Amino acid sequence: MNDLSGLSVEKMTGLNYKCSCGKNHSVEIENILVGTGVITQIANVLKSYEGKKVFIVADVNTYDVAGKKVEELLANRYQVSKYVFKQERLIPNEKALGTLLVEIPEDTSLIIAVGSGTINDISRFLSYKIGIPYVIIGTAPSMDGYASVVSPLVVDGVKTTYNAVYPLAIVADIDIMRQAPMYMLQAGLGDILGKYTALADWHIANILNDEYFCKEIEKLVLSSLKKCEEAAQSIKDRDDQTVEKIIEALILTGLAIGMVGASRPASGEEHHLSHCYEMIFMNRGETTKWLHGNNVGVGVGIIAYAYEYLNNIDINEIFRNESYLYLDKAKWRQNIKEVYGTCGSNIIAFKENSICFNEEERKINMKKILANWESIKKVCEVCVPAPEAIINTLKKAGAIYSPKELGLDKELFRKSFIAAKDIRKRYGALQLLEDLGKLDDVASYITNIYYN
Ligand SMILES: [Zn+2]
Ligand SMILES: [Zn+2]
Repeated sequence: MNDLSGLSVEKMTGLNYKCSCGKNHSVEIENILVGTGVITQIANVLKSYEGKKVFIVADVNTYDVAGKKVEELLANRYQVSKYVFKQERLIPNEKALGTLLVEIPEDTSLIIAVGSGTINDISRFLSYKIGIPYVIIGTAPSMDGYASVVSPLVVDGVKTTYNAVYPLAIVADIDIMRQAPMYMLQAGLGDILGKYTALADWHIANILNDEYFCKEIEKLVLSSLKKCEEAAQSIKDRDDQTVEKIIEALILTGLAIGMVGASRPASGEEHHLSHCYEMIFMNRGETTKWLHGNNVGVGVGIIAYAYEYLNNIDINEIFRNESYLYLDKAKWRQNIKEVYGTCGSNIIAFKENSICFNEEERKINMKKILANWESIKKVCEVCVPAPEAIINTLKKAGAIYSPKELGLDKELFRKSFIAAKDIRKRYGALQLLEDLGKLDDVASYITNIYYN
């Protein structure tokens, strides 16, 4: 039972099988409903909670588009209470979580989150911390966190990923989702396109660091991704089937993370860029309209350029002239401080010992890269589409594709390209470029493409 690519996410609930990769893959979500009008089935999904206290979490927008309907559907057979956030742009921080802790009635049996990114993240974390299950009624196909098991939260001003729990059920009503603001639909596409470079980075980590890899999961994610790519044009029309393909792909990649026990199939250097941009704006105290997925969409084009550059590198020349040997620590530190501001010193402390400044070690790394260069080139050629193709798909959907549109100026963009990978310790195209002593050159090269 390995080819799952024909299966809808609804049919994947309860999966548990031994894969050819040697791992056991399982899906621990009991119920996934995707389709037009599925919200009316909510009472059936929650049958075992009849008569009990349920607590709806929404914000003013999501309450209007779906929360109210859920409340009506459950009113007779459940003891329903709710909390509706008034903020337009809710931040998943201590205040939002504290509010829910205060508002949730005693003896609540189930949390019903109605929303997308932030509402889902705080409800999931609340559910995990107080041990009450939660279901998510999705309102926009904007990110792949519905089927996730972690919550990214902003604590003490820093965005950090916390362990949490799976939802008991995911309800994705296409009628509701297709009416979400257009930039949210485009964000969903961006998050999905990011899987191209995420999978490529996973390959690179497998080749160079012997990191675990699953071909079956890769196939599954890719087949879902390609369907969305082909349908990109009809996002602007809010086409039912297209919206369904996107939410299917988003839920699927969430499941894939759970199945392999790591975010590798869903997140790579394009996500590092996205997180870096989010932190830059947060530090500046600026609110931006663009969501995680919009950032990722921009990021995947940028990383596709990085892969193209890698593919054209003369590796023997770099090896011979030893230009990769010296990495300037002071310059590395300074750049991080300039990009991340007050958070810079935390990032330096987190990452410094994992960066290879030692020339002997850099030589050993280089030899490993050299020995595997043909396999790496194959990843560049086979796994990552041409950057123009990625950008074209985003354009077809009317989505933003340039870091300029995000509001980054030229110099900050160049610096952030160099510093983005340092918020995590995982190997990918940017780290490989740094090992080759080429990260600065590529940064300037790509900056000139977007900013000339
Ligand atoms: Zn596998
Ligand atoms: Zn994402």
